[in-house]
Amino acid sequence: MESLNKTIQKMMQGRNVAANMDQIMKQVYADPEVRAFLNQHRDQLTAESVRRGRSKLYEFFHEKQLIKEGKATVAPGYSPQLQLDSGQIDVTYVPTQQLIERRHQAHLRQLVNSINMPKFIRRATFADYYLDDQNATAGRVAAYSAAEEFVKTYSPDHFQPGLYLTGSFGVGKTYLLAATANALAQREVATTMVHFPSFAVEMKNSIRNNNAGEKIDAVKRSPVLMLDDIGADAMSTWVRDDVLGVILEYRMQEELPTFFSSNFSMAELEKQHLAINNQGVVEPVKAARIMERIEFLSREIQMNGENLRKKG
Ligand code: ADP
Ligand code: MG
Repeated sequence: MESLNKTIQKMMQGRNVAANMDQIMKQVYADPEVRAFLNQHRDQLTAESVRRGRSKLYEFFHEKQLIKEGKATVAPGYSPQLQLDSGQIDVTYVPTQQLIERRHQAHLRQLVNSINMPKFIRRATFADYYLDDQNATAGRVAAYSAAEEFVKTYSPDHFQPGLYLTGSFGVGKTYLLAATANALAQREVATTMVHFPSFAVEMKNSIRNNNAGEKIDAVKRSPVLMLDDIGADAMSTWVRDDVLGVILEYRMQEELPTFFSSNFSMAELEKQHLAINNQGVVEPVKAARIMERIEFLSREIQMNGENLRKKG
């Protein structure tokens, strides 16, 4: 048998809990959102349904507090909302603005598929593209305008060529391509960005596993394709004709816009790079064939300006 003392103690504790609960419920009923909810539904609510909904009102209040304090909640990323469900007070959870934004960012990232590209491409935007006095050279401005125009007018049903950005190392060619891809993602357009020299090496290594074809296939079908740093490394005949040639041939047939960046102009690329294979054999006709496709798929813009890599 319990001692009388213990029983009294328990009763007192119970009373404390009840008193505490009353205290908390006072705060709950004073909450502006709770008040607004009860007020908005006063015609559908009875004293009894409000009493039965106490725990729901408390849950709503408590979860809001946890979120405000940055503490773990029942459903992270979701915020509580009061609702009336056939006369009963209930709490539902809706995604927070933050969660929606995070999902949106993840979705945008999925639309920019990159192969061997530097990390900075994720953050590149038109808004951050340097166009201050020092950097607003004619070439950089022209490239920027053309890229913006492309994004604005892109339509899968109406072919318009991509850009062939040429200019010296560090002038911002890759950055501008990335900003273009990210802006296209905002319009739900998928882009594939490929660092071409690394891709070529990867393809050579894939011959052994017999899956070069698959990878080339995936790349060539991208709604928008960007081949970065073309001409940076000597190309083998195989890479030129069976990788680059195959990709460009498909895109020309299907009228799929393609972007390039290169330290070489189109003329230089053709004469110095495509025409001479890595064994020193000169093949001007093959080079001209590839060049024809590049010219169909893109428009050359010479970017000039200082090396931005030094900016740090
Ligand atoms: P390129 O491809 O012409 O060699 P990059 O696009 O790689 O040049 O640019 C060189 C460096 O300058 C990169 O590190 C890039 O992050 C930076 N950069 C270029 N343009 C911008 C810009 N508008 N805003 C911020 N950083 C830039
Ligand atoms: Mg580059």
